[in-house]
Amino acid sequence: MSAEKDLARAAWLNEADTKSVMEALVSGGGTARFVGGCVRNALLGENVVDIDIATTEPPERTQALLEAKGIKVVPTGIAHGTVTAVTPSRHFEITTLRVDVATDGRRADVAFTGDWLEDAKRRDFTINALYCDADGTLHDPLGGRDDLKARRIRFIGDAHRRIREDYLRILRFFRFHAWYGKGEPDAESLRACAEEREGLRQLSGERVRDELMKIAKADAAGAAFRQMAASGILAIVLPEASRLDRFEKLVAIEAEQLFVADADPVLRLGAMLDLDEAGVKALAERLRLSNKDRDRLTAMLTDRTKIVCYLSMREVRRALYLMGRDLFKDRVSLGWAEDRPGHNTFQWRALLAMADSWQKPELPLTGDMIKAAGVPEGPEIGRVRKEVEEWWVDSDFIDDEFSIIERLKAVVQATVY
Ligand code: ATP
Ligand code: MG
Repeated sequence: MSAEKDLARAAWLNEADTKSVMEALVSGGGTARFVGGCVRNALLGENVVDIDIATTEPPERTQALLEAKGIKVVPTGIAHGTVTAVTPSRHFEITTLRVDVATDGRRADVAFTGDWLEDAKRRDFTINALYCDADGTLHDPLGGRDDLKARRIRFIGDAHRRIREDYLRILRFFRFHAWYGKGEPDAESLRACAEEREGLRQLSGERVRDELMKIAKADAAGAAFRQMAASGILAIVLPEASRLDRFEKLVAIEAEQLFVADADPVLRLGAMLDLDEAGVKALAERLRLSNKDRDRLTAMLTDRTKIVCYLSMREVRRALYLMGRDLFKDRVSLGWAEDRPGHNTFQWRALLAMADSWQKPELPLTGDMIKAAGVPEGPEIGRVRKEVEEWWVDSDFIDDEFSIIERLKAVVQATVY
């Protein structure tokens, strides 16, 4: 099937919201084309989420044309020529054709242009400089289609020069190779990435984090991180990654055993690390991780509950109750990745399945019941409850109310008020 047919049939291209955005953009006489990930992924038959559009209209006019058709616009990066059209089904990032006139390794001063070839040349890789019209007609000014067929990730122009304009392109190279490349990464590009690696230090934590997470999610993430380590890049962006062995095993397990459609990058990141609480805190500050992700990493790396593949049902219920489902699953995943490859697969899988079907039992003991047993109002209520709860967990969550009341009475009698 021809590229045009693939593109013309893509679901996102034929959605009503996509059509109204494209119609609005050309309603003032300008031109608009899809570009980047949506075109690339449509040609590969892969899922498309974000839609990027390039237009000859300057950003303020883009905004006005969209608003005139009742489409909501957020001026996300208007100085760089980008506005976001927000529709019920999707977001569209719309960028005016531009050239980078001055760069400092992190960001660029831009000038708008009417020249499609100039716009293509400022992009990073040939496979990301593919454009298509609203009807699916492909525009391929730099040979991206052939590179995509060969699954070859190639810098546009001189790799060294392109990296010095924006060092994030080093990490983007590994990301796009991990997601869309085949075989070994292009040797010349890889060498340029390695030689320019010191420049990575000037990037913000957020940008590095986002790329690392996207690389970590790829099916080929294991190889990508190995290549980054071998070229001295990982030592700069993630020197804490001392457990690539465990990371690679986890990625393999997820691919072979669990068929994960959407890998969890935080779990994968945790698998690479061997850190205490202070170590996670420092990492989280540098990469600007959310508090939620930081706490999850701390818990999975420091929790010492005994997790082995041969836990009994009773031990599983106890661990789930004390740890909560999420931490239990994280620890099981890490434990599985520590095990010898191919061993105890059935047991590890069963532990994850048990966690998924587990429902947290509730101790049937109210504050009123504790008061009725003679405990005065105040902190004592909580202490007594906790003591009964500990016994109840040890009893494997007995649900016989009579036994629980008996235990409550025994606890109260042992205390002098
Ligand atoms: P996806 O959205 O699937 O992650 P994408 O290719 O759409 O992939 P974006 O980060 O959304 O990537 O960027 C859209 C396009 O903008 C890219 O395809 C590329 O052409 C260009 N681009 C983005 N970031 C850079 C960069 N740092 N240097 C050069 N070009 C870039
Ligand atoms: Mg995109």
